[in-house]
Amino acid sequence: MKYNCFIIHYAEVALKRGNRPFFEKKLVKNIKAATQGCGPLEVDRRWGRILLVITEKTDVDRVIAGLKTVFGIAYFAPGRIVDQEIERITTAALAAIEGQEFDTYKVATRRANKHFPMNSVEVNIHVADEIWEKTKAGVDLKNPDFTVHIEIFDDVALVFGQRFEGQGGLPVGVSSRAVLLLSSGIDSPVAGFRMMKREVRLLFAHFHSAPYTSAASIKNAEKLVEILTKYQFNSTLYIVPFLQIQQHITSVVPGPYRVIMYRRLMFELAERIAEMTRCDALVSGENVAQVASQTLPNIQAIAEKVKLPIFRPLCSFDKKDIVAEARQIGTFETSIEPYEDCCTLLCPIIPRRAPDCRSFRNMMKNSTSSRSSRRH
Ligand code: ATP
Ligand code: MG
Repeated sequence: MKYNCFIIHYAEVALKRGNRPFFEKKLVKNIKAATQGCGPLEVDRRWGRILLVITEKTDVDRVIAGLKTVFGIAYFAPGRIVDQEIERITTAALAAIEGQEFDTYKVATRRANKHFPMNSVEVNIHVADEIWEKTKAGVDLKNPDFTVHIEIFDDVALVFGQRFEGQGGLPVGVSSRAVLLLSSGIDSPVAGFRMMKREVRLLFAHFHSAPYTSAASIKNAEKLVEILTKYQFNSTLYIVPFLQIQQHITSVVPGPYRVIMYRRLMFELAERIAEMTRCDALVSGENVAQVASQTLPNIQAIAEKVKLPIFRPLCSFDKKDIVAEARQIGTFETSIEPYEDCCTLLCPIIPRRAPDCRSFRNMMKNSTSSRSSRRH
């Protein structure tokens, strides 16, 4: 058996002094959730990192795929825990270079157990010699292609080579919850991903105009939630019928202002969902000036009645960067599937910039009071 464990290094969790045990516990819980179904394994907190012990029945590839979805991990590496004997350490180091291609390498030993008979330089030289015998590759201490890490603790030694980058960030679900306004487009899933990475657990709200439009946007939203759930392990999606509200808006609001009015009511309803579910904030995929409804005055008009904080993590992103991130997360292909957007329903393609704030607000006030009396 090539590996018997994974060594997992935290990202920012290490910086959270007083709250560190709290974050660590959540991280361990999330790692367990992400590796469920991968076969036998145990997750343990040891030596300031997390150790995932596996058996020969564990599906290593699935563990790697699972760990890549966990926020809070800086990097992780499959490795071996061995007894503290130099020959066992060397054998594990030779196993760690198997299948790796490199012209230069280095051995990096950390020795916490000062009673170990060799010091770290002696261990480095001994193991590096054995690797040279096998590969004839050159040693490069400054910028090696590959590094074999050896850590000697009180009772055992840990040996690992290949490292996988983690997602970074903080473990999702530590303390905050927010409602993401999820359209079927490219931006909002990426905005949600960004917030999950800052430990915020998301609830999802999707507004649709079925049966006036097809159910494609609902299907897309469901698929997007499924993809994002990989990163927070379980989710709730609120599918909100919006057609009646839109029909009412079209009867009282002139065409150029309708998109803004639709959005305004979406945000108000999302806030109701947030209140019902004890969430602390709303999240949207708005991006300044990307479309006419997202100029600063229009963003302000849309958010005016909402009391909860609204996070817009993509507000200053270039579209190409959002697209690149959507591809990386795995939401892009679903987001570009055709659907009818409920916001373009019954209104001109180009919404007007909210020009005269006073008359716009009066219009809002009138239509909002008639809306509440109809109790949609
Ligand atoms: P996206 O790609 O997320 O659709 P977009 O660039 O198309 O964003 P807009 O359509 O203007 O932007 O929407 C701005 C934000 O309003 C979205 O990112 C999303 O947070 C929210 N939103 C828009 N339509 C809906 C909807 N049908 N359901 C839920 N939220 C929506
Ligand atoms: Mg959209």
